[in-house]
Amino acid sequence: MALANVIVVDHPVIQTKLSELRDYTTDHRKFRALLDEIASLMVYEVTRDWPTTPRVVQTPMERTTGRVLARPVTLVPILRAGLGMADGVLRLLPEARLGHFGVYRDETTLSPVSYYKKLPPDVAATEVLLIDPMLATGGSALAAVAFLKGAGATAIRLVCLVAAPEGIQALHGQHPEIPIYCAAVDRQLNDRGYILPGLGDAGDRIFGT
Ligand code: URA
Repeated sequence: MALANVIVVDHPVIQTKLSELRDYTTDHRKFRALLDEIASLMVYEVTRDWPTTPRVVQTPMERTTGRVLARPVTLVPILRAGLGMADGVLRLLPEARLGHFGVYRDETTLSPVSYYKKLPPDVAATEVLLIDPMLATGGSALAAVAFLKGAGATAIRLVCLVAAPEGIQALHGQHPEIPIYCAAVDRQLNDRGYILPGLGDAGDRIFGT
């Protein structure tokens, strides 16, 4: 059943790469490469309805009017796993500024503990892509969105790879207007807050830790 404001990018190439990512025999080098490729591929869908503005260009033949993105872009990876998607998104949006939101999950309480925050000063006037491969309990995403909204951001989209129903519910419970883009909505969380079937700890698999 379709979930409101959740866009599952169900492209066969993305799904093939996601299946390879899920495979526990995929090592960190291959995992990193696949995640990077999926992040690039997802950009087309995530940005599909961004506003554009006309721009006059002189071709070698004549003047014409093209279209360009209306607003600058801010990319905000949630550290550390979000870094694994940043280059892939930047490849298609090389002008984007890069903010950071550092958070870790307290393994006992499963609550997010933030340790680093930095945004470009004009973030309020930009399209913001918040990126994190896993939307699990939603705690990190909620903390990041609170930070972004506090800084004046209004046009926020969450780009992840795998989302749990619990995380979607948590984020949309407070911020239903934020679109969630993902490659899959998985079944559930386990009692340690890991997504099932999921792909394990994305940070560990990206960085080989
Ligand atoms: N974070 C991860 O990296 N994996 C999960 O399954 C849940 C949270």
